[in-house]
Amino acid sequence: MTAPKRHDASARRREAGRLLQEIAAEVAALLACQGFRRGSLYRWRHRCGRSGCHCAAGVRHEHWVLSVPGGGKLVKAYIGVDDLDRVRRQVEAYRRFRRARRRLRQAEARLEEVLERLGEALAAARPP
Ligand SMILES: [Zn+2]
Repeated sequence: MTAPKRHDASARRREAGRLLQEIAAEVAALLACQGFRRGSLYRWRHRCGRSGCHCAAGVRHEHWVLSVPGGGKLVKAYIGVDDLDRVRRQVEAYRRFRRARRRLRQAEARLEEVLERLGEALAAARPP
């Protein structure tokens, strides 16, 4: 292991500064979030089972379903076509929120490491 040099401290300070900007940007993104919906939206195509229905011949019924985890299971709700755009935006906003939270946690963990190394570099830089 090579002894940390004084310039390591400057590099760590620059790195910490960059991470601080990244953290500020993620927090700003989180604060800008408006209402969202948890869950995932998907198209469900199925056959109803009634004889003589068009779906028996091939063209299946189609519904949009919002599936939301809760209480250890998935709660599902049909989403009508009139609500589809709005719900899709809300679900996407939830994904953005989750992504920003994940990136924030990662940046915080990196900052913690950088500060740890900065401490090591500063301790080594001091003459006895
Ligand atoms: Zn049918």
